[in-house]
Amino acid sequence: MAQINDIFGSLVFDERTMKAVLPAKVFASLKKTIDEDTPLDPSVADVVAQAMKEWAVAKGATHYTHWFQPMTGVTAEKHDSFISPAPDGGVLMEFSGKELIKGEPDASSFPSGGLRATFEARGYTAWDPSSYAFIKGKTLCIPTAFCSYSGHALDKKTPLLRSMEALNKQCLRILKLFGNDQVKNVRTSVGPEQEYFLVTKEMYDKRLDLKMTGRTLFGSKSPKGQEMDDHYFGVIKPRVAAYMEDLNEELWKLGIFAKTEHNEVAPAQHELAPIYETTNIATDHNQLTMEIMQKTALKHGLVCLLHEKPFAGVNGSGKHNNWSMSTNLGQNLLSPGATPYENAQFLLFLCAVIKAVDDYQDLLRLAVATAGNDHRLGANEAPPAIISMFLGDELNAVLDAIENDKPYTDVIKQKMQLGVDILPPISKDTTDRNRTSPFAFTGNKFEFRSLGSSNSIACANIMLNSAVAESLQIFADKLEASSDFENDLHELIKETIKAHKRIIFNGNGYDDAWVKEATEVRGLSNYKTTPDCMPHLLDEKNVTMLTKHGVFSKAELESRCEIMLENYCKSVTIEANTMVVMSKTQIAPAIDKFVGDLAQRVALKQSIGSSIPDTYELSLVKKLSAITDGIYSKTDELKDEIAALSGAGDIIEESAMIRDKILPKMAELRALCDEGETLTSKEYWPFPSYADLLFGV
Ligand code: ADP
Ligand code: MG
Repeated sequence: MAQINDIFGSLVFDERTMKAVLPAKVFASLKKTIDEDTPLDPSVADVVAQAMKEWAVAKGATHYTHWFQPMTGVTAEKHDSFISPAPDGGVLMEFSGKELIKGEPDASSFPSGGLRATFEARGYTAWDPSSYAFIKGKTLCIPTAFCSYSGHALDKKTPLLRSMEALNKQCLRILKLFGNDQVKNVRTSVGPEQEYFLVTKEMYDKRLDLKMTGRTLFGSKSPKGQEMDDHYFGVIKPRVAAYMEDLNEELWKLGIFAKTEHNEVAPAQHELAPIYETTNIATDHNQLTMEIMQKTALKHGLVCLLHEKPFAGVNGSGKHNNWSMSTNLGQNLLSPGATPYENAQFLLFLCAVIKAVDDYQDLLRLAVATAGNDHRLGANEAPPAIISMFLGDELNAVLDAIENDKPYTDVIKQKMQLGVDILPPISKDTTDRNRTSPFAFTGNKFEFRSLGSSNSIACANIMLNSAVAESLQIFADKLEASSDFENDLHELIKETIKAHKRIIFNGNGYDDAWVKEATEVRGLSNYKTTPDCMPHLLDEKNVTMLTKHGVFSKAELESRCEIMLENYCKSVTIEANTMVVMSKTQIAPAIDKFVGDLAQRVALKQSIGSSIPDTYELSLVKKLSAITDGIYSKTDELKDEIAALSGAGDIIEESAMIRDKILPKMAELRALCDEGETLTSKEYWPFPSYADLLFGV
């Protein structure tokens, strides 16, 4: 393997490269744009474009693309080559500042939720200079935001950047109150831990469900699953290790800090964790990571499954969003500090997050809602659909002491007085213990664990940043008007703890008793499915907050709600249609064939005089015939339910029909087919079993 130093970032137009190839003045101007979000000087763009092109062409690139993240959840690119005709009949390789800054993809086929009428189908893409350009294959990719001509965001990056700006603005106000006026900006960082499954390409190709939907829609349980806990952190198989090595190298070339890799709980399940970065870059990199994971797998004869629930009966895959806020001077605002003043500031930021998570539980929940993730949240493997927070013993004790004006345990005997006392050290170990919490404080960051493995992390971070910006704005409004800062600060923190402590839960989130307590005693919301939570995006309090901070317009929210529900409906409908095809054309015929052969044997035995009518063959024939009858009629019922969807009045009604009618019918059909599988000779079964898939690599 090449030296990491030589390959790391070799395909990225990063700061090292910019510095090397740009004139000093241009570099300084671009760097200012990147670091301080100042507008780009147009004269700089041409020079940057020229240098970028030369660098890319020298590395073998022939095309460029504005790379963006439409509401499909995956990335989009439209390649243009650098060539333009030269007067002498040859070609020139050209790339202008204008082409770097703005693109105009024909966007009529991207979901817009009604935002972009077809007569103004063209959207435009705008360069995000804070995320470096990179080369993929033979194409120079320029990270961009994607908007309609009327200025509406049609992508996930635009609102993410807006939410980061909203949070930055409020953080700076708070920091000023604590005397930190040197700070130029506050940015959030994210380290997304990515889970995935690997199966062999050969088996994958035999399963229509995996190919069409990314998950198995049928399959009886493997005799062995994850019960031995022998896969988690187990020895990595050579074929998987070779994949991981190759993957790391590809990611490193793209400047992605792939750091940790290990086997996960379920057989064939693995995890990749990168080192955290600024949120918009982490988002770009996570999208790229998912793409490269899938591409690299194919080179190894494998398929990387990013679906949240590829297999029933074993754990699904999530993505832990490790989130923190820090200043350009390097101070992590979620890190308890060394002085009492720093600690008071830390506690205020902590309270802002507590208040945000409580006030906007619904937004955090719906930010991670997809048809796929509905299979995880609420099952005993992922955090529950109820959003709550885990803070760990030390912080709980600190908050308790502040709330009740009582001494903080043994360490600090006197009354906890903010701005006076030093906090006890918060050890990471105690905070990391609770693995069932959706939103856990882990020493100097929060880990939001409800994300599904295929989710773009943009959505969760948009909501998180915005909700925390809202808390901070309320705090800043109060404290800026205060004439007794220390006292009012103390009171504000105390009040916030009192008002929002219901969101803090340190027990077992998988426990049924918690569901009861959370919903009945604490009044927390429990939205089990996408159709349950998504419409709340348009609740007045949410629209007010998100528009106030300039993160979304009302029209954008309406379109997003529509798009997300549409995605849900389409995903499940495709699954239902795939089940119909598989059950009618693969499963039932396979069972029929087996039954036919069995029946022949029954007849043969009878013809040679064996008079026993109750042979095992006969009883199996009867059992399986009943099952195939059931499969045929359930499939027809499912088809009828699918047909009935066209009668839905709107997308909310359609999504409710999917939840209440289609999904239960799919489960019934599956149960019959899976039972059929357990009774049918493997020779006859038309596709690989769970045992084959989970233990086949
Ligand atoms: P683990 O969860 O395996 O114990 P860590 O907690 O160290 O490992 O890191 C998990 C993820 O959190 C990694 O992607 C890491 O880069 C990221 N991370 C660590 N510190 C921060 C931080 N201050 N802000 C955001 N993410 C962080
Ligand atoms: Mg973790």
